Amino acid sequence: MNERFLPDQGTECANHSGAAAGAICSVCGKPVCADCFVQLGPGIVCDDPGHKIVLEEWAITFRSRSEFEVDMIVRNVENDGVESKMFSSRAFKQTIGADPRDVVNVFVRRSEHQRAEQVLSALGLSSFDDEIQKSN
Ligand SMILES: [Zn+2]
Ligand SMILES: [Zn+2]
Repeated sequence: MNERFLPDQGTECANHSGAAAGAICSVCGKPVCADCFVQLGPGIVCDDPGHKIVLEEWAITFRSRSEFEVDMIVRNVENDGVESKMFSSRAFKQTIGADPRDVVNVFVRRSEHQRAEQVLSALGLSSFDDEIQKSN
């Protein structure tokens, strides 16, 4: 995950109204100002203390604009014993709309990524990695 999401011009920090957001959390999509984000090797995380671990140890396995589809995926990978975490950038009003970042990301532990991919391919869906390869 080497994305570096930059917020649109004029986006405010979700924690400090009036402060310009300098980055978007690579995990949850929260727009945050320079006081609220931490730059790590693989991306940027917001002030939520849990997101650093997610960025370092988990990987996006699936991304969708459809919360219905994501629900279905999460249920299927969990049936297979793979724990997942789901983050929707819709939680932040600043990113609502036609923004391509208006998505739901499903993360699984890096060690379980391959297993989650097998579940996805059994469902006839491509994982986030496949999508990246297709668009390259
Ligand atoms: Zn975050
Ligand atoms: Zn802030």
